[in-house]
Amino acid sequence: MRIDNKNMEAIPDKVLDKALAEQALSANEILQLLTAEGAAATALFQAARTARSKYFANKIALYGFIYFSTHCRNDCAFCLYRRSNRGYGRYRKSGAEIVAAAKALAASGVHCLDLTMGEDPYFLDRGSEGLDELTAIVGEVKGQTDLPLMISPGVAPEQALKALHEAGADWYACYQETHNRRLFAALRLGQNYDRRWRLKQYARSIGMLVEEGLLVGVGDEAADALQSLQAMGELAAAQLRAMTFAPQANTPMAGPPAADCRRELNLIAVMRLVFPWTLIPASLDCQGVDGLKARLSAGANCVTSLIPPQSGLQGVSRATADIDEGRRDVASVLPILAEMGLRAATVGEYRDWLTHLRGRQAAAKCKEAA
Ligand code: SF4
Repeated sequence: MRIDNKNMEAIPDKVLDKALAEQALSANEILQLLTAEGAAATALFQAARTARSKYFANKIALYGFIYFSTHCRNDCAFCLYRRSNRGYGRYRKSGAEIVAAAKALAASGVHCLDLTMGEDPYFLDRGSEGLDELTAIVGEVKGQTDLPLMISPGVAPEQALKALHEAGADWYACYQETHNRRLFAALRLGQNYDRRWRLKQYARSIGMLVEEGLLVGVGDEAADALQSLQAMGELAAAQLRAMTFAPQANTPMAGPPAADCRRELNLIAVMRLVFPWTLIPASLDCQGVDGLKARLSAGANCVTSLIPPQSGLQGVSRATADIDEGRRDVASVLPILAEMGLRAATVGEYRDWLTHLRGRQAAAKCKEAA
């Protein structure tokens, strides 16, 4: 994305027309959209839906979520699963349990399976033994479901990422959470900003699709979101996520939940306008099915964090809410889509989107090389 630094004043309608014509917005115009309220926010969301329909018509992707290990070697200040949180019971699912959950999700009608773990030392710190086991699990899930796969193993060695891609992983999800280095250091304690960033660039260079993500409400400001939009454009990420921070007990950032998710919704809409061809999640991990409509109305086009009930699997920021009640499943989501004039994509349509996104990522790479 190109951001002009001209100090342009424009009424929101003009800004939205410009965005819908896919013209570069100035920094001031983007800030205006990020902070829009009331009628201006309503117009912003309407424009975001228009931009979505240009590339995706009324079709929505569904992502099954398998958080197969909640062990982690890191100590992120915001996270329930940080290693210092010794009071929290953890699990690591076996290969057979992961495959069973994947098959159940595939049968329920999801288009993509998101295999996520904390940075589990069992897989990442035992040399080739752990990495080979992880790769074999991914290969088995691919073989048993033949669905597009997203993996989120944290910061893994490059050769492991390549092996996971060859075993069938289409996507690499790795969230910076912020592109403000000071804030990154306060959130991802003791972690290396550049190493995390470079791994996403590496994933892209070997043909993986990349998902980038932000946390909203962690001391960030609109200017930080602006900086993140610039970074997302440089990365040419194919999926872009924004989630409102949910404070977790027994962590340094414990506290009352955010009063609302308005900043997240604005960010979803702005990401849709600036990168209209991308996949943008409406995560059930934020406010469950009750929060789905607002996110889809803001321009999101995939429903993520669908989790099979009674599987013992957890979410990330709302670890257990709605799961065993069966409210994070495809059957709960489809009527909401229908009510909004939307429908689930077919797997074939989702695969076509991935082909288009790969082409965009490759073109961005060529432009960089030129
Ligand atoms: S955010 Fe991820 S890397 Fe950080 S502590 Fe939680 S599980 Fe570990």
